[in-house]
Amino acid sequence: MRCHVVVNVTPEVRQRGTVLLDKPDSVEAIKASPLKTRVSLKGKIVKIRPLQKIGISKTGEEKELLNVRLKDNTGVIPISLWGKHATTHQALKVGDCISVEKGEKAVFQNKPTVNTWEDSTTITLLTEDMTEITDSDDETAHQSASPPPGTTTGEWVSLGNITKYEACKEKRCYLKKLTIDNVCPTCGKTYSVKCPSTMALIATVGLQLTYSSEVKTAIIFTNALKVAYTQLCPGASLPDSLKAIEDSFFAALPKMCQMVINANNVVTDITLL
Ligand SMILES: [Zn+2]
Repeated sequence: MRCHVVVNVTPEVRQRGTVLLDKPDSVEAIKASPLKTRVSLKGKIVKIRPLQKIGISKTGEEKELLNVRLKDNTGVIPISLWGKHATTHQALKVGDCISVEKGEKAVFQNKPTVNTWEDSTTITLLTEDMTEITDSDDETAHQSASPPPGTTTGEWVSLGNITKYEACKEKRCYLKKLTIDNVCPTCGKTYSVKCPSTMALIATVGLQLTYSSEVKTAIIFTNALKVAYTQLCPGASLPDSLKAIEDSFFAALPKMCQMVINANNVVTDITLL
């Protein structure tokens, strides 16, 4: 069966999640900013504590508090949702992506946090799935998968959302994505124009599962993409331009294959059948 399924996320859909926040601050930048700085960020919830009631005055007045830990490409920071934010969002769960607008940098037990104000802060649940951004922003996720990877067989039908990112050149950093300041979060190396970083790729693959009508999507990075490319186009190496990569996969797919997909939904190996 040959069927070409397009699993690309349209720019409109991507936009929906981003229009809410003009220019989010990175967790890294927030940690470095002074106390009481007004901050906006978006990310994925990696930990959440049940709703609590905290005594806030001697008169016994209590306020609801919901503590979440939010992760973006640069790090993780705790956020305190108070009052109406806590009650409105008490159904939030690990894996949900939210944006926080006009929060405030604070410190709790000597650790940076983001505080929210009932009247001025806005918390929005994002429809955009940030999984691929936050879970697997680089090949480190690929390397650190703890559960044993699973092998999935099917027809590889598509490759989409190909994006380039700046990565660390050190081999031990496994193409770790650089921060906006061109620093490698793993080894701390700073890149300048004189010592250019490596261009790494992230993309989405669509796999039409054998014995099922389901098309599974997963994330693929440079190294696995190269492994696949050398099988699809023997003797050639991955082209430099995104357009050329897209074109060559479009021409070569669909293909029956076996993909090894890890717990972070990242393709770690591909064998064409
Ligand atoms: Zn590095």
